[in-house]
Amino acid sequence: MLIALISDVHGNLEALETVLKRIRELKPDATICLGDVVGYGPDPNETTRICSQVADISVLGNHDYAIIRLWNNPKERRKILDRFNPIPRRAIQWTLNAVDEETVSILARTGLEIFWKDLHIVHASPGFPLDWTYIFTVDEARMFIPYVKGWAALVGHTHVPAIFTRTIRGLIHVKPRPSEDYTLSMDDIHILNPGGVGQPRDGDPRASLGVLKILPSKREALFRVERLEYPIDITAEKIRKAGLPEELATRLYIGR
Ligand code: ZN
Repeated sequence: MLIALISDVHGNLEALETVLKRIRELKPDATICLGDVVGYGPDPNETTRICSQVADISVLGNHDYAIIRLWNNPKERRKILDRFNPIPRRAIQWTLNAVDEETVSILARTGLEIFWKDLHIVHASPGFPLDWTYIFTVDEARMFIPYVKGWAALVGHTHVPAIFTRTIRGLIHVKPRPSEDYTLSMDDIHILNPGGVGQPRDGDPRASLGVLKILPSKREALFRVERLEYPIDITAEKIRKAGLPEELATRLYIGR
């Protein structure tokens, strides 16, 4: 079974279209969207609609969740926004003005945590979907490994591709090199992050796509991350024209 994994599209239509072109070539059995389809980028309605059509399974990210709450609780807007740092906060305010009812209703129908075919699907932290805790390090992974249901959790949120594996000997962290297949035993426990489609933060500005091939007869899976160049100039120009913070355009070029 072949599964395509996308995460953190963040309103970046050009990156999403590039990744979808590759997904069409791969012809996966399922496509999973790990959340944050909106926020930061200039095309939140388009990315939400496309992801809802393409993904067989989706979960909400913290930006998606914030938009639903802000939309439904106008009186609590200040309180909700105060939890974000200044730049994300400005981006979320911009996104709230840009989204339409259809986008909000698509997001409102999306769950926070899904268990499917022995996989644990959540945006940030397995078992604690509303904590939005980042898993960057082995120590952070160690906190959540005991709560992973099934043989692997699929997460996003950090915008950094990663493999965390707990074997009988201990917990290891692998930074997957692009286009290299990593063999995972289904007898171990893994936390897999495909990286970010629309705002990569690992120093590589190319859009990131995860590919998971499950080989049940061998009790093994192959996980790989592919990086795809997309026309950053177009997205950056849209960000500037929209009046979103300039930093959101410049960071796309450096992938941070
Ligand atoms: Zn994100």
